[in-house]
Amino acid sequence: MAVAGIDAMILPGGADLLYLVGYRAMPLERPTLLVLGGEGPPTLLVPELEVPRVVASPAFVIRPWAETDDPLRMAAAAAGDASVVAVGDQMWARHLLALERLLPGARFVPASQVMTSLRIVKDAAELDLLRSAAQAADRVVPVLAEQTFTGATERELADLVAAQLLENGHDEVDFAIVASGPNAASPHHETADRIVGRGETVVVDFGGGWAGYRSDTTRTFHTGPVSDEVCRAYEILRRAQAAAVAAARPGRRAAEIDAAARDVIDAAGLGAYFIHRTGHGIGLETHEEPYLVAGSNRILEPGMVFSIEPGIYLPGRWGMRIEDIVAVTGDGVECLNESDRRLYLVE
Ligand code: ZN
Ligand code: ZN
Ligand code: ZN
Repeated sequence: MAVAGIDAMILPGGADLLYLVGYRAMPLERPTLLVLGGEGPPTLLVPELEVPRVVASPAFVIRPWAETDDPLRMAAAAAGDASVVAVGDQMWARHLLALERLLPGARFVPASQVMTSLRIVKDAAELDLLRSAAQAADRVVPVLAEQTFTGATERELADLVAAQLLENGHDEVDFAIVASGPNAASPHHETADRIVGRGETVVVDFGGGWAGYRSDTTRTFHTGPVSDEVCRAYEILRRAQAAAVAAARPGRRAAEIDAAARDVIDAAGLGAYFIHRTGHGIGLETHEEPYLVAGSNRILEPGMVFSIEPGIYLPGRWGMRIEDIVAVTGDGVECLNESDRRLYLVE
């Protein structure tokens, strides 16, 4: 905070708070607020009824607030006469607007100015948790490969994925996208009641949490017979994904990793069908810095963890994606996901 010229920081519940004090606040309208800097010691303002959830620590003081108290007034008082106040990027607008009224002399900046540099590089314990989560997600893939897709609904397959995530070493399910046939061309498809047919690609993208840290992996299945067009495109996709993994190492710009995947797909004449960035960071949140996107000058460093997930999407027809989480090492990356990257032929 001192380096960034920030006098006080006010963080609502969320990943920043979890990162700093290990407390997962309830994401409801009663704010939990961590105030750092300002007058006193780090202070966690907690709704009185939620105090029993907090594990006390010498790192911060717990100040309960009662139903008739104004927690934002308490936070503003704790920030004292700070002239630059950082607030959590995902603070509710109504809470920030209240703070602006209560601290009219302060300039507000996003807490990511401090928090991103802390969270973007994972330490050994965080890497262990991310590795465990990725390996647990990998164990779902062979189970899926044995399923009969044809005749099942997307939702039935998604329910199976969710149950398998829990069975194989997650304590939370975040999402299970099952996108079949023309739906596979929608990267964030809303899984529903469509019945999987023959001769279709099925994109299955899923992830969950393990002790706070997230997994996120995608494999593509096919109910056969596979057309030459799909077969050729999948080979391009595999090469694109592998090229991006091979390009990732310390000192490279995030944009270069995106370009490594995109160049392969562009060269095959399919560039118009790769409609999203190549990857996103992952940690306590499924999507966080660094983002692998054209234009990003972010320099990769050892300990950064992100997805590499190019896809090819033919609107109204089919789609495919391969997604792995990788961790930057001293001279390259460690691939945290290790399940086979083939196009899985299923019944
Ligand atoms: Zn996504
Ligand atoms: Zn994903
Ligand atoms: Zn992802």
